[in-house]
Amino acid sequence: MSEQANASSLFQNYARYPITLVKGEGSWLWDDRGNKYLDFMCGIAVTNLGHAPKPVKDALVKQLDELWHVSNLYHIPNQEAAAKLLTDNSCADRVFFCNSGAEANEAAIKIARRYQQKVAASGRYEIITFQKSFHGRTLATLTATGQDKVKDGFLPLPEGFVHVELNDAQALEAAINERTAAIMLELVVAEGGVYPVEPAFAAHIAALCKQHGLLLIVDEIQTGMGRTGTLFAYEQYGIEPDVFTLAKGLGSGFPVGAMLAKEYVAEAFSAGTHGSTFGGTPIATAAVKATIETIVGEGVAAKAAEAGAYLVQQLKEKLGGHPLVIDIRGKGLLVGIECAQPIGELITEGQKRGLLTVSAGPNVIRLLPSLLVSKEEIDQAVSILAGIFADRTAAV
Ligand SMILES: *Cc1c(COP(=O)(O)O)cnc(C)c1O
Repeated sequence: MSEQANASSLFQNYARYPITLVKGEGSWLWDDRGNKYLDFMCGIAVTNLGHAPKPVKDALVKQLDELWHVSNLYHIPNQEAAAKLLTDNSCADRVFFCNSGAEANEAAIKIARRYQQKVAASGRYEIITFQKSFHGRTLATLTATGQDKVKDGFLPLPEGFVHVELNDAQALEAAINERTAAIMLELVVAEGGVYPVEPAFAAHIAALCKQHGLLLIVDEIQTGMGRTGTLFAYEQYGIEPDVFTLAKGLGSGFPVGAMLAKEYVAEAFSAGTHGSTFGGTPIATAAVKATIETIVGEGVAAKAAEAGAYLVQQLKEKLGGHPLVIDIRGKGLLVGIECAQPIGELITEGQKRGLLTVSAGPNVIRLLPSLLVSKEEIDQAVSILAGIFADRTAAV
């Protein structure tokens, strides 16, 4: 254990970099030694409007003066308003607020089961998810996750989850049976390596759900809130989920999650069936309200689409021919650089040169800048990355 780890009273469940960030503004972060960093990871797709965005900060400060927490035993005006903004701008009719992505997916899994058991009276309970997916760290959501590393040592896992290969229509069809309740997926597999789902496959999933009476659950926790160039990624696929989940960028850094559903599904969560003490507090939903108003009002998703196209074009131009670079892909400002070898050192080298990025699996560098990132900031980030890759070639 490092000296710093020995001195800490915290669980050592995070492999932390030796960096202490103390201030943030827009696309920039500063550490406790005065070093400045260009933030191309956004706290893992959370600070989509940059650090300390003024409209969200103002809404939070105002709410802090008025009321922090009551209980979902009472009406909460900010929660109503935030939910209305979400339903007005999506295919969903109802919103349940919670506190994290895992909790939102847990709610999605629960509502799928309860819908099948109580509304459709089909008795179906199995949920099909995909290899390489990431859906969270609670027991049900880590079981839904298509990666073994999150399950190691946590047996026994809850029943009722089946995993199939992404973009494999035959495997998917073979996995559907009389127990199947829902199909759940990320439209860009984010943490698992930045793999956008093929449009034909997404359409096929939607058709299979209709045909077999299954619910389509889209995990928009990372892809949502403008990240992929539309408010929600499903808009680009011409499909409508029955249920979808949000967290990460939903509160611009204030912790909050949401599970959204069509009216016929929402029926399954009648009074007393599900809840969360902190779900949708006046403060959390003030952050949500200001975040959506800003994203929608200022056309932030379209800006992300444009900036993402520019970022990918610049990366292809400056890194595309490099022997270590296998692929550059993504949607909007969720971008991956797949490399021929593990990228851990490339990330720490970026930190030394003032650029923060995050991995997506062992070989993919994931770029998640602020959706309001400027062209100059993109140029700067690409130039730092190009420098790192150029030095690698020289070293080989
Ligand atoms: C981050 C993430 C989650 C889990 O969210 P937490 O807030 O960490 O629980 C679930 N699904 C996807 C796609 C994510 O990116």
